[in-house]
Amino acid sequence: MTYPKLMVDLKKIENNVSAVATICEKNGVSIAGVTKVFCGDPQIAQAYIQGGVSYLADSRIENIKKLKDLDIEKMMLRIPMLSEVEDIVDYVDISFNSEIETIRAIGKIAEEKGKVHRIVLMFDLGDLREGYFDEEDLYDAVGEILKEKGIKLIGVGTNMACYGGVIPEESSLLRLVSIGKEIEDRYKLKLELISGGNSATLHLAQKGLTSGINNLRLGESLVLGTEPSFETQIPGTVNDAFKLQVQIIEIKDKPSVPQGRIGKDAFGNIPTFVDRGVRKRMICGIGKQDIDLDTMFPIDEDIIILGGSSDHLILDGTDSKTDYQVGDIVEFRLSYVSMLRAMTSEYVSKKLV
Ligand SMILES: *Cc1c(COP(=O)(O)O)cnc(C)c1O
Repeated sequence: MTYPKLMVDLKKIENNVSAVATICEKNGVSIAGVTKVFCGDPQIAQAYIQGGVSYLADSRIENIKKLKDLDIEKMMLRIPMLSEVEDIVDYVDISFNSEIETIRAIGKIAEEKGKVHRIVLMFDLGDLREGYFDEEDLYDAVGEILKEKGIKLIGVGTNMACYGGVIPEESSLLRLVSIGKEIEDRYKLKLELISGGNSATLHLAQKGLTSGINNLRLGESLVLGTEPSFETQIPGTVNDAFKLQVQIIEIKDKPSVPQGRIGKDAFGNIPTFVDRGVRKRMICGIGKQDIDLDTMFPIDEDIIILGGSSDHLILDGTDSKTDYQVGDIVEFRLSYVSMLRAMTSEYVSKKLV
C-alpha cells in the first residue's frame, strides 16, 4: 500500500456520464468527454465511452496520444501550438482553431500526409480567452480556410466561464448559432458542429434552452456531477467518484497560534490564525505540490484543514469521533483543482476500481 492514493470509481463516472448524456440527448446535443482533468487516463476515458460520450477531447497532445487505441474521434481543445502541428495531424481528428497561420501549417502537413484535417473555428462571446472577437474577421478567415486542401471546416465553437467567468446565456448560444448560419449562407456549406461551450452551459441544457447548438465539451460535470455556473449537483450524479487517501505521519497536541514573530510562510504569504487553544494536530504526507487546500473536503466532517506546505498537510482532529493514530488513513472528496493536481502528481498513486 502506498500513500497518498487517489481512488477512482469507474462505475460512478460512467453513471455520471449517462445521467448528463440523458439531459444532452433531449436537446440534440452530443458530448465531447473532456479527459484533461484526469490526464487522459485511457481507462477512465473508457468509462466516458460506456456512459455515452460521442468524442473524447483534451487540451494536451500528450493526453490525446494516450487515448490513441480507443475507437472514438478525438478533439484537441486548446488552440494548437505551431510546434505541435505534426502531432495534431497524426493523433487528432478535430482541432479547435483561431489563427489562420496555424491552420495553414496544419493544412500543409495534412496535405503532405494525404489527409484532410477537420477544424472548428472558435468565436469569443466575451469571456476573453480564445477565439475570434470580430465576426467579419471570422468570416474572412473562413474564406481563407476554404482554399486549404488539407483542411475541412466542420463547425464553430465558443468557450465561456473560464477566464472571465462569464455565465453562458441563451442569447450567447443564439449568437453562436447565427454565426454558424451566416457562414453556411455566405459560403454555401454545411457545418456539422455548433459547439456551445463547457460544463457551465449545462444549466441551459437542463432547462431545454440550448438554442440550436448541437455539441458541448464536458469535463467537470462528468467527473464531479456539478453544474458550475450555479454550483448545483446534477440529478442522478455523485461527487465522490474520486477520493484521496492520505496517511497520518505525526499527531501532537499543540497551540493553534504559532509562537514568535510572524513573517512569511512557505509560499510567501503572511498567515493568520484562529486561536482555538491547544488542539490535536495531525500531519499527513501530502502537500500543495499534489493538492489544493481549498478544493478538498474531509469525509470525516469533524476534521478541520488547518493548512499545509509543499509536502505537508496539517489537520485538526480534536473534534472528530475517531481517535486517529499515526499511520491511519484520512479520506477526502476532491473538487476540480485538487483532482487535477492529484492526478497530475507523480507522488500520488492511482487506483482505479
Ligand atoms: C477544459 C475545457 C472544456 C471542459 O471544461 P469543463 O468546465 O471541465 O466542462 C471545454 N472546452 C474547452 C475549450 C476547454 O479547454
